[in-house]
Amino acid sequence: MTSFDYIIIGGGSAGCVLADKLSACGKYTVCLIEAGKSDQHWMIQVPLAVIALMRSKARNWQLNSEPEEHLNQRKIFNPRGKTLGGSSSINAMLYVRGQKEDYDHWEQLGNKGWGYKDVLPYFKATEHREMGENDYHGTSGELNVSESKSKLDISESFIKAAQTCGFPLNDDFNGKEQEGIGFYQVTQKDGLRYSSAKAFLTPNLARENLTVLTDIQVEKILIEDKKAIGIEYLSKGNTCQILANNEVILSAGAFHSPQLLMLSGIGDPEELEKHNINLQHQLNGVGKNLQDHIDILTVNQVNYQQLFAYRPKSAWWFVRNALTFFTKKSGILTSVIAEAGGFIKSDPSLARPDIQLHFIPAAMDDHGRNNKILLKYGIAMHACLLRPKSTGKVTLSSDSIKSSPKIFLNMLSHPDDMDLMVKAVKISRQIFTQEPLSTVITKEIFPSQQCQTDAEIAQFIRSKANTIYHPVGTCKMGSDEMSVVDNELKVHGINNLRVVDASIMPTLISGNTNAPTIMIAAKAADLILRK
Ligand SMILES: Cc1cc2nc3c(=O)[nH]c(=O)nc-3n(C[C@H](O)[C@H](O)[C@H](O)COP(=O)(O)OP(=O)(O)OC[C@H]3O[C@@H](n4cnc5c(N)ncnc54)[C@H](O)[C@@H]3O)c2cc1C
Repeated sequence: MTSFDYIIIGGGSAGCVLADKLSACGKYTVCLIEAGKSDQHWMIQVPLAVIALMRSKARNWQLNSEPEEHLNQRKIFNPRGKTLGGSSSINAMLYVRGQKEDYDHWEQLGNKGWGYKDVLPYFKATEHREMGENDYHGTSGELNVSESKSKLDISESFIKAAQTCGFPLNDDFNGKEQEGIGFYQVTQKDGLRYSSAKAFLTPNLARENLTVLTDIQVEKILIEDKKAIGIEYLSKGNTCQILANNEVILSAGAFHSPQLLMLSGIGDPEELEKHNINLQHQLNGVGKNLQDHIDILTVNQVNYQQLFAYRPKSAWWFVRNALTFFTKKSGILTSVIAEAGGFIKSDPSLARPDIQLHFIPAAMDDHGRNNKILLKYGIAMHACLLRPKSTGKVTLSSDSIKSSPKIFLNMLSHPDDMDLMVKAVKISRQIFTQEPLSTVITKEIFPSQQCQTDAEIAQFIRSKANTIYHPVGTCKMGSDEMSVVDNELKVHGINNLRVVDASIMPTLISGNTNAPTIMIAAKAADLILRK
């Protein structure tokens, strides 16, 4: 039987960091197992292809939620990366850490060692910031962070319009202050995507003590006497096992990590019984506490053509500008689409931002999958709640890993979330009425001029709100009865098993979740190696 010191399940944002850090000293054998394929594909490398990855069946799990009670029974599309690099190979590349208070809150909840002062060194240590180092940034890490190589004029216009509304300019959302409007920093190098795989895994593939297996979907974690001893998977109809001498580390992401725990007999007995799964250990919190950023898009038609649209003039502009990619590694092929945005307060009296904006130089709808609307020249604004109060859950749809987990986002189940979403739509509209954006706008597509009262806006939100792809919390860190891992990310009650990915966040951070997940994995590696 094959064995390794450490088995990591899932080669995503967290898994690639762990594979690097645990194999670096050469003392331990490490096996990283990824369900998806290799990340050697032009769509992953070229930033603008992020739109195409939304529709990729090969490298995107393309999950869907169950019908959402408060969103007109719509099933919400949940893309997730299925390749080395995981979701960092299909994401929008924005480098955002969240707010100091997010981590101080984790510590206040009892998670010693996870306050801002503790996590900042890990953000800095994993970062190579092209713009240089300072109190908040590092230059010796693996993850390349750069300015966007594409800064469209229309994105600049958005920044000016938002400033006119009174929102301050900010050139670094990860510095002293998060609040403000500006261009996002991106995980790119030389105009190409810099995923977690590219940063932490690819340079280390030649290490003799590191084995990377792709196209293998782990079926369950083997548990014996409350101890994880290895993993099991199916290959060509045969059941195969790999044993772990030291630990199994689960990094399959916020939907698949709880699924795999439950399939391995760890979870709420009621849920396991429904699928005749033998209980190994009762942990009622597995799959609960799902939190995600609910988002609403406001879309306008414009009489301006230098943006992304399926129109002849846009196509010509696109071709002319795309050429700079091949000569200078810049231009619109390097665009992350949401080049500009920011963090704002819905009310100036608030202590910190509660809404995030992503400006889109296209008539965007349905995750970019609505081709018809892209026939119009348009601009759009994502507005999402940074700390929504609604929580959902992940359960099983069968006793097999081949069935997708059941996702209940339960968005807008808390009434405060709807109130803030209505404000978010009003703020987006307010920005669109300012110069220089207002001069190019010819018509509001969504919500449309007929939609004016709060009740009408709420109805629009129910019919259109979506995820902005940041599910967390389903194997939460803590010491209360609903927590799944402790502050060293060890699964409560089971030896030699940790969960290390976005699922361990006890509460959703106020921003995009890739950099925080990388930070979590880098800190976990130190905990494992007792550094
Ligand atoms: C479309 C999109 C856009 C986003 N944009 C941004 C952004 O711009 N900035 C940002 O900060 N964040 C962004 N995010 C969020 C961010 O990328 C994720 O929060 C982060 O990548 C999560 O990391 P993870 O390690 O928890 O999971 P993942 O990176 O998803 O990794 C989980 C891995 O486990 C594998 N796996 C699952 N089940 C199994 C199994 N049974 N056996 C073996 N392997 C398995 C998966 O294939 C996957 O590779 C975006 C996400 C998406 C989907």
